[in-house]
Amino acid sequence: MDNSILNTPLEYVRGIGPNRADVLKKDLGIFTYQDMLCHYPFRYIDRTKYFKINEITPDSSYIQIIGRVISKKVIGEKRTKRIVVVFKDETGIMELVWFQSLKWIDENIVEGLVYVAFGKPNLFNGTFSISHPEMEPYKRNPVGRGNLTLQPVYNSTEKLKKFNLDSKGLQKLIAGLLDLVIPNILETLPQHLLDKYHLPNRRTSLLNIHFPKNQQDLNDAQRRLKFEELFFIQLQLLNSKHLRALKFKGVNFNTVGEKINRFYKEILPFELTNAQKRVIKEIRIDTQLGVQMNRLIQGDVGSGKTAVALMSMLLANDNGYQACMMAPTEILARQHYASITELITDDLVKVAILTGSSKRKERVQIHERLENGDIDILIGTHALIEDKVQFKNLGLVVIDEQHRFGVEQRSKLWRKSVIPPHILVMTATPIPRTLAMTLYGDLDVSVIDELPAGRKPIDTKHLFEGQRMRMFGFMRDEIAKGRQVYVVYPLIKESEKLDLMNLEAGIEQLSYQFPRPDYQISIVHGQMHNTDKQFEMQQFIQGKSHIMVATTVIEVGVNVPNASVMVIENAERFGLSQLHQLRGRVGRGAEHSFCILMSGNKLSKEGKVRLETMVRTNNGFEISEIDLQLRGPGDITGTQQSGALDLKIANLTTDQAILQEARNSAILILQEDPILEKEENLLLKAHLKKLERGISFDKIS
Ligand code: ADP
Ligand code: MG
Repeated sequence: MDNSILNTPLEYVRGIGPNRADVLKKDLGIFTYQDMLCHYPFRYIDRTKYFKINEITPDSSYIQIIGRVISKKVIGEKRTKRIVVVFKDETGIMELVWFQSLKWIDENIVEGLVYVAFGKPNLFNGTFSISHPEMEPYKRNPVGRGNLTLQPVYNSTEKLKKFNLDSKGLQKLIAGLLDLVIPNILETLPQHLLDKYHLPNRRTSLLNIHFPKNQQDLNDAQRRLKFEELFFIQLQLLNSKHLRALKFKGVNFNTVGEKINRFYKEILPFELTNAQKRVIKEIRIDTQLGVQMNRLIQGDVGSGKTAVALMSMLLANDNGYQACMMAPTEILARQHYASITELITDDLVKVAILTGSSKRKERVQIHERLENGDIDILIGTHALIEDKVQFKNLGLVVIDEQHRFGVEQRSKLWRKSVIPPHILVMTATPIPRTLAMTLYGDLDVSVIDELPAGRKPIDTKHLFEGQRMRMFGFMRDEIAKGRQVYVVYPLIKESEKLDLMNLEAGIEQLSYQFPRPDYQISIVHGQMHNTDKQFEMQQFIQGKSHIMVATTVIEVGVNVPNASVMVIENAERFGLSQLHQLRGRVGRGAEHSFCILMSGNKLSKEGKVRLETMVRTNNGFEISEIDLQLRGPGDITGTQQSGALDLKIANLTTDQAILQEARNSAILILQEDPILEKEENLLLKAHLKKLERGISFDKIS
């Protein structure tokens, strides 16, 4: 693209000026000509179709109707003063109403003439009416606007509307802008890609996305712009992966030594699943290539990611390197530490933990021991990244239960060591394929698609408030069998006070239903001190309490195999992935496990789908796909701030096929021309440079 003109700030467009430009910036993030052209319509109105009055329904969207003005009256005083027109076609009558520009309307809308009225009808007192319709005298063979068949509709805001920049105003602005810069819009994709996927060129696409002549042109334009958007994200991700491989040597884990062998043969209390073995092998191969590994392990809740992580860390140790593992919460970090040190003693490798609540003295000691190589495995929270921890020779970092751990965060880890450590990211819940490709497109992916043998699917039931006593009865039966029960309450920031009240009321009721000394209840919520939390967790883990009442702090990772019932209160208020995570806390032992979703009687449509999905399936991948459909990628936990998801036109739910094509194309191109030096790819290289999406490896010292 010719930058000189497209990068011009908007205030220089004739008729915009500084004030409107300011609102465009603030409200829509539009700064330049280029930004304005990429403010695509969010829908189109078919201006070729005319409706009859008797075809209007209460759900009718924007429509146009040909009719005669039967009467025109001024009604009301001052603020309620309005013009009401009775409008008639051969099928019925309706009303057209104006509250503003009355003088103009009065002069220009003439009784007895035929007009095309355009707008969104409302049903009012049994009659359909349109407020502030667009009016045009009817001509049998329209000229001028005749070629506008699909009218673009743009997102606007209240403030912009005050500046005459409603959808219509934006349409005019963009039309003028297009006229001005059409010659400056240059192609960004090489011809061979356009040919291969039958994509229109960029100039045509930009014209047609705003002012399509027909549906086909619009479809083509949309496909091209979506392809372009997804293609460049993929090209960037894959290109940076490639550059990283060129730039960073990786430490070599050549030896499978005594530590990992002893652990595998003498300590590991179960046989690995085939999926676990396969993934460990993939990691083995990856860490002998002399390049830095960046691998994502996807595995459903309970698939045994921790064992894979632990063995990978031992592999690092066997090769003379340190390893560290980071968990998202303190509880989880402590739990990992506890379960790892239960298996592993100092004579195999030395394991330590460092978290936000580690004492100063302890902290200083651990820092020292890390630097002189006395610690082999460090467990901690994500805060470790920010900590000034330095290792003697860090070889592997495991990041547990993390949806999003972008290049930015990973790059901080690379600085912890002269040669950047290998990185394993383990996702909390399976994430949809399209999302994984976009968020983790620069990672290699391993999938643990098998649960340890003997796992029984968790029975999930949805109960209403009226069935609460039945639920308590069931809990009593299970506890009598020696099992433990979780009861989880939502604690959501917006209504924290209300939630806490719920929690307290719930605890009171539970204490009444399950009185001491026969029953012990542990309580954990975010407001508690860490030491108290740990104490309560320990009570439950050691089987000293029967019921664990908690807010979502237990969401990820907690492992108490004897717990076989998960009760989720106000389940309709949790997201799907959260529900799935919570349910994954049970079904970890040999016992048949249950998940009970408690909800109020009033459910939103979406809430209903969520609960039905949970009852129907245990499959995390299926659940994640439905989650994506329900909420859209922007809302999937932990992905909110990801730039990779800041898509202008593509949609990760509906454009899976285009994404796949885009990724395949990027892979193919880089395979044949790794540094994009061929003539036909120079365009791509130049455009990549321009994009500068913050994935800059040169910034890393
Ligand atoms: P997640 O993948 O959700 O992190 P974990 O690693 O916590 O799962 O494993 C869940 C439970 O399954 C743990 O109690 C773990 O000891 C056990 N486990 C892991 N792998 C196996 C296996 N191959 N056979 C039997 N149990 C296993
Ligand atoms: Mg885990």
